[in-house]
Amino acid sequence: MKTCKKCNIQQKLSNFHKKKGGKFGVKASCKTCEKIRTSLFYKENKEYIDNRCKEYNKKNIKERVIYRKCWLEKNRDKTIRYCADRRAKKMELTPILTNNEKKQLEYIYKKSRSLTELTGIPHEVDHIKPLVKGGLHHPDNLQILTRSENRSKGDSWHL
Ligand SMILES: [Zn+2]
Repeated sequence: MKTCKKCNIQQKLSNFHKKKGGKFGVKASCKTCEKIRTSLFYKENKEYIDNRCKEYNKKNIKERVIYRKCWLEKNRDKTIRYCADRRAKKMELTPILTNNEKKQLEYIYKKSRSLTELTGIPHEVDHIKPLVKGGLHHPDNLQILTRSENRSKGDSWHL
């Protein structure tokens, strides 16, 4: 048991984040207090943090793709065992996505589905630069097209 420095509530050690060199090897304030602190900090600095993240992500897309590629190289056996070629290719072209980017991806697919429902015209998510040409499976490279537009574009993958 350890008492949190912030809320003064005595709690199990598992309620504290680990910290090397800290007393009991954990941080002084409990997970709940830490959470409140970070979310407050985020609220107060939202714009700044969001912008920083955006810029950071832009700069790092290439690196993240390379990182992913290396991971796939190292785990080639696994990937071959578990993924069809096409899926592996898609993985290879998917940078490690931040939560924000994952949300954007989800949103695009969701929007495509609801457009299909609303209009009765089948819509599909298209890679602006096709994966086969080295385009990335990343929100920045996705657009929503009607199926016929997409088919006439050719050469792209329908996911
Ligand atoms: Zn606390």
